[in-house]
Amino acid sequence: MELPQAPQGDGKFAGWFCDGKEAEDDQILNDDKEFYAVFRQDIKDARISDIPASCYNGTEIKPTFTVKYQDELLTENADYTVSWKNNVNIGTATAVITGIGKFFGTKEISYVIEAHRWNGPMKTVKEPTALVYGRAERKCTVCGKTESKQLAKLSPKMKVNVSSIVLKTGQSTTKVKVTGLAKGDRIASWTSGNNKIVTVNSSGKIRAGKKTGNAKISVKLQSGLQKQIAVKVQKTPVKTTKIQGIQKKIRLRKKKSCTLVPQILPITSVEKITFTSSNKKVATVTSKGKVTAKKKGTAVITVKSGKIKVKCKITVR
Ligand SMILES: [Zn+2]
Repeated sequence: MELPQAPQGDGKFAGWFCDGKEAEDDQILNDDKEFYAVFRQDIKDARISDIPASCYNGTEIKPTFTVKYQDELLTENADYTVSWKNNVNIGTATAVITGIGKFFGTKEISYVIEAHRWNGPMKTVKEPTALVYGRAERKCTVCGKTESKQLAKLSPKMKVNVSSIVLKTGQSTTKVKVTGLAKGDRIASWTSGNNKIVTVNSSGKIRAGKKTGNAKISVKLQSGLQKQIAVKVQKTPVKTTKIQGIQKKIRLRKKKSCTLVPQILPITSVEKITFTSSNKKVATVTSKGKVTAKKKGTAVITVKSGKIKVKCKITVR
């Protein structure tokens, strides 16, 4: 007896099979079983889906793709296996598809590994404050990866309108003002260095005690920045030493008005401010400093606090 000749069929003749296993030559010659011819297809004839570019990330890049033979979607590890070449570094990588089972042969498909392509420079997505870090980001247009960096907190800052004040025993003031804080910052505390001389509450109201002497008030921000105000407590009432903020000359049209806003120093002065006009027919002034032009001419407004006087010449046209 001779082995049967390889039959003609679709694909490559892979041998005679029996019960799902390839038959041995002597089995074919001796057994009285049913044998059938198995043909395998060349994987080269399969179609492989395109592989988009990937980005370098330091590890092996194994993109997914599909393998189709005619209309049949093939299954990895049943119809084919995949091995990879040059798939770590930037450049051209290759997937090697090897047919198994009903398939034989190999087919290669290459794909590109490139560096990230950022959509532009880092853009701020979260503004930093004095207390919280900010964040800037950029995005890769190829793989969608987001890269971010931390933005430094804002430098803390503050202005205090005075570096020192004078108070009479028992006098209190809310005229010490803190401004110019960096965004997000706030006052954390007001404290006195000597509560027997002066106390301060959480909103910055400063009160002199019964004793005279010197002490320091500290204002501390949430960011940690701190400033001190020197306080002197004396027996006598605090007197005005200077009047600021009054223009020497003002021109006004008839019936128009303006308001004089004097700044009294020291800010804790208890002396009253008064306003008087030298010629009420030309210009009048209220106790709040509002000047009204009445008729053409000139008038001098005197701003007085204690022994200090400043003058403003009003010309009405
Ligand atoms: Zn990328």
